[in-house]
Amino acid sequence: MRAVFLGPPGAGKGTQAKRLVQVRGVPHLSTGDMLRAARASGTPLGEQARAVMDAGELVPDAVVDALVEERLRQPDTRDGFLLDGYPRTINQALALSRVLAKRLTPLTAVVLIEVDEEALVARITGRRSCTQCGAVYHVKASPPAIEGICDLCGGRVEQRVDDNEALVRERLRVYHESTEALVDHYGAQGHLRRVNGNGSIDEVAEAILEATAPEDVGGERA
Ligand code: AMP
Repeated sequence: MRAVFLGPPGAGKGTQAKRLVQVRGVPHLSTGDMLRAARASGTPLGEQARAVMDAGELVPDAVVDALVEERLRQPDTRDGFLLDGYPRTINQALALSRVLAKRLTPLTAVVLIEVDEEALVARITGRRSCTQCGAVYHVKASPPAIEGICDLCGGRVEQRVDDNEALVRERLRVYHESTEALVDHYGAQGHLRRVNGNGSIDEVAEAILEATAPEDVGGERA
């Protein structure tokens, strides 16, 4: 499986990606996680991305394209991967196609997770994430057993700096302005699978499994 998750912030891409990669045995490539890791370790790239991310805007295409191209050179992506949060612009989608065309390994699925807009804001503002392992919680729907401590690794559980309401609205605006065009782009290629993301985590996971089932991917075997 060589798949992309599309959808607005708060659609559940990260949560669902963590599940799907376990079932399919492929690496989870999240540009948001890569950029947060670069920030946390204080690399020049991380510093460059900091202000842009904190404003809810998009990091320049060339920066994320280079990150993803480098990651796709790692041998663990040879048998497939799941991209989460990339591509986010048409230019990124074109850069990705070029990289994959060189390897003769086109995408096998693009999954669009659709969620009602009002639900997105409630989901993101209540979201908390582990600063160490990236596990995702929600203050109401799925809090950690001990407040502020990750159930899985004992790391600190905090709100992402860009998960406050004003920034969520800005990130949704950026999604509509820059990323939504990818729905038509991939729709025209016949790869797009729409999944209703309003249900429970289990229900959505089930729908995504179906949407990425090998025999149902763009009419070809993955
Ligand atoms: P995410 O964790 O996917 O919500 O990403 C968090 C932030 O990282 C975004 O609001 C952007 O500032 C930045 N970012 C992540 N992925 C990309 C991308 N593909 N292109 C540009 N900026 C990105």
